[in-house]
Amino acid sequence: MRWEKMSEMVKAFVGGQWVEGSGGSESYHSAFDGSKLGEFTVCEASDVDRAVEIARNAQPAWAAVPLLDKVDLMYRAYDLCREVNEEIARAISAEMGKTIRESREEMLQYGWGHFRRAAEDMLRFRGMTMPNSETRSIGKRMFVQQYPLGVVAVISPFNFPVDIPAIAITYALVAGNTVVWKPSEYCPGSTRLYAQIFERAGFPEGVFNYVPGFADAGEALVQNSEVNGLFFTGSTRVGRKIAAAAGAGLKRTLLELGGNGPIIVHRDADLDRAVEATITGCFYMAGQVCTAAERVLVHEEIHDLFVAKLVDRTKQLRLGDPLDEETDMGPLCNDNVLAQVTDHVDDARMLGADVIQTAEVTGRLFPPTILVNVTEDMKIAREETFGPVAPIIKFGSVDEALRIANSTEFGLNAAAFTKDLRDAWRFVDGLQHGTVLINETTNYWDQLAPFGGAKASGLGRELSSWALGAFTETKTIVFDVS
Ligand code: NAD
Repeated sequence: MRWEKMSEMVKAFVGGQWVEGSGGSESYHSAFDGSKLGEFTVCEASDVDRAVEIARNAQPAWAAVPLLDKVDLMYRAYDLCREVNEEIARAISAEMGKTIRESREEMLQYGWGHFRRAAEDMLRFRGMTMPNSETRSIGKRMFVQQYPLGVVAVISPFNFPVDIPAIAITYALVAGNTVVWKPSEYCPGSTRLYAQIFERAGFPEGVFNYVPGFADAGEALVQNSEVNGLFFTGSTRVGRKIAAAAGAGLKRTLLELGGNGPIIVHRDADLDRAVEATITGCFYMAGQVCTAAERVLVHEEIHDLFVAKLVDRTKQLRLGDPLDEETDMGPLCNDNVLAQVTDHVDDARMLGADVIQTAEVTGRLFPPTILVNVTEDMKIAREETFGPVAPIIKFGSVDEALRIANSTEFGLNAAAFTKDLRDAWRFVDGLQHGTVLINETTNYWDQLAPFGGAKASGLGRELSSWALGAFTETKTIVFDVS
């Protein structure tokens, strides 16, 4: 068997076979120059329902596979990643637009290792024995044990097309669930290569299924009553719809949604460090990261110096073809993102912000953009922009910074730069976010730490044993032996 080439049509992988969906085929394109990269089959509701039925039928036998055999399969898949990491990285850069260095990071630092981490976390995932807590519990033995949910549906976004679904897929599988995955419609090439790993590693038929398609395929997964768990990563707008539908079906859900994370630069911050963190926070992956620094709150005393340093540093960034090794920032992934970023910058300009750009907008290449005199009524300060923009807002006190930082509906990552221990803790305690970083950029996360959003940024936590908790059902077992 060989890795399929990007020019061949991307098919669905269902019940161990590569098959075509009922919705014909669609082309997918380079984010950078719009050239056609290939075609993918389009799965519709009937195809999704069939995949779920197959996954449902395969689940009891998969759950019964001894854990060490499951772990062997995960390790085989981990070894196969070694062969295909670069090919997947190149496919991600072509279709999604992030630079080849960023795509390699997605695979080598994050995506690849989930096979190993999931296997090792599961090997150490334990139940519990409970004490007899009261007189009437004497004579009883009580345990808590985790069971698979059943069929887990994974619906994933374009920005980390492989790494993000890989977390859910690997952890759900090793915990004894079967999986049906609907990838982003913008990234069929890279996700197909990742799907092939499961085939080549020898996972039993029907355990892992891949159904490329559009929103309606995702909706069919959400509506299907045979789906027990739902892992959705994407926008808060779609997440709200999914939460309503999944809630009505009482499905277990893990929702990873949008953000508008602040970086707070206090008056005593190490400015060079804060500037680097802002560059990474605002311009990494052209700002298309849920944890991006979407607002930069700068203390009024150091505001002008910080802006001057940020502008200087931003001028060094090289924009261009994401597959060129020298490029620091690639294009936006698609025209919807371009339209939203353009709208937010225009709105800010209209309401009085000054716009500093290092180059012209050319196609989907949107230059790193710094906005000063940003106020809280601007869209850019309230909504998720998802582009390479650093909107700067002045503040005068810790309380004011906290009020502004917490004023959006989002609560994913927030960062604060200060050397004062007391102020650092005021930020930690006061920021209403899933992750708070002190003297580190918002675009930092650790594979062994829980990750997820507060408020409208999500529901639940993933990564490491938190992902195992999300993809298993807790059962309390009582034995009366009196
Ligand atoms: P999106 O919400 O447009 O789409 C995500 C996925 O959902 C796609 O596969 C899409 O086809 C599918 N979908 C769309 N409508 C659906 C519906 N009604 N029912 C079921 N599925 C549907 O998001 P996107 O543009 O691909 O990704 C960008 C968004 O993802 C940003 O908001 C970003 O913040 C968020 N994101 C969050 C995290 C996190 O961990 N919190 C990580 C990455 C991205």
